[in-house]
Amino acid sequence: MSVAVGVTVHSLTAYPVTTVGTPEQQEALLPGMLSGDQLGAYCLSEPLAGSDIGSMTTRAVAEGGGDGEPTAYRLRGRKAWISHAGHADYYTTFARTSDEEGRGLSCFVVPADAPGITFGTPERKMGLHCDTVREVMYDDVPVDASRRIGAEGQGMAIALAALDAGRLGIAAAATGLAQSALDLAAGYAQERQQFGRPIAANQGLAFLIADMEAAVTSARATYLHAARLKDAGRAFSKEAAVAKLTATDAAMRVTTDAVQVLGGAGYTEDFPAERYMREAKVTQIFEGTNQIQRLVISRHVLR
Ligand SMILES: Cc1cc2nc3c(=O)[nH]c(=O)nc-3n(C[C@H](O)[C@H](O)[C@H](O)COP(=O)(O)OP(=O)(O)OC[C@H]3O[C@@H](n4cnc5c(N)ncnc54)[C@H](O)[C@@H]3O)c2cc1C
Repeated sequence: MSVAVGVTVHSLTAYPVTTVGTPEQQEALLPGMLSGDQLGAYCLSEPLAGSDIGSMTTRAVAEGGGDGEPTAYRLRGRKAWISHAGHADYYTTFARTSDEEGRGLSCFVVPADAPGITFGTPERKMGLHCDTVREVMYDDVPVDASRRIGAEGQGMAIALAALDAGRLGIAAAATGLAQSALDLAAGYAQERQQFGRPIAANQGLAFLIADMEAAVTSARATYLHAARLKDAGRAFSKEAAVAKLTATDAAMRVTTDAVQVLGGAGYTEDFPAERYMREAKVTQIFEGTNQIQRLVISRHVLR
């Protein structure tokens, strides 16, 4: 799961350059990003700005250029919960360039060796232990204007579009996680004998497995539907939110039920069921919590 999350986070970091970067920026940055030679971190969340990213306070102050385009920026502030922090080669960072509502944020690709960038100690998390998550501090970090991706003020639109796409990755990873839990539970239920027969021979348990299969199948269907819309160049924001909500809630339910099917063994580290359950939980929280997905979906429906 850490590997899957790593791939989807890295894809997020390349999204702004891919979609709104200039041909020069794409030529300079994309080969390293897309080949995987360069690892990225996506720096959106802050200690006091999680679901409400519009309230972020990290600033990028423009320098030079007189009345024209700035030649450089100085970044000052703090990001929280940043996957790959301390390991990444570059930090796709959103920062405030004005206080204008909705158009106050801009996007920058900051090299890891920029002076003034430092990292907190890794968070001690419930799961996803291969995904290092830390704070990133910017202490007047100089960033050349050629590293601003998109126009000044376009940052919020870029961040939200990147998250729409990223939600497909999280939904796919959650579906795989749920499938693993189901496979484990189905195999165990056929082997484990109680009352002289496999526990799967009890309808009460077999029906639990049927519900797990139904949840995995719906999770897969929703993310493939949204992904096909995206591939066809059609609107997919609502469908991506539905897929993220459906697949991650399915992963939570199915992994919890897998622990139940394994009984006491499911509660031990001898089987991966307990790890699947701990890993499922975070999928309901990041890339927009599932409450935020409901906000996105209801706004689309009620628009
Ligand atoms: C392991 C991990 C990796 C992460 N990686 C990254 C990363 O690489 N880059 C990055 O930028 N961020 C990352 N995050 C941050 C993640 O995106 C945030 O944790 C998430 O957006 C929620 O923000 P928050 O934790 O501040 O919770 P809060 O926004 O404080 O929310 C707390 C609770 O209130 C609910 N809530 C908030 N607003 C509303 C509302 N309007 N209506 C109903 N309920 C609401 C939330 O759903 C949640 O249940 C990561 C987080 C984790 C745990």
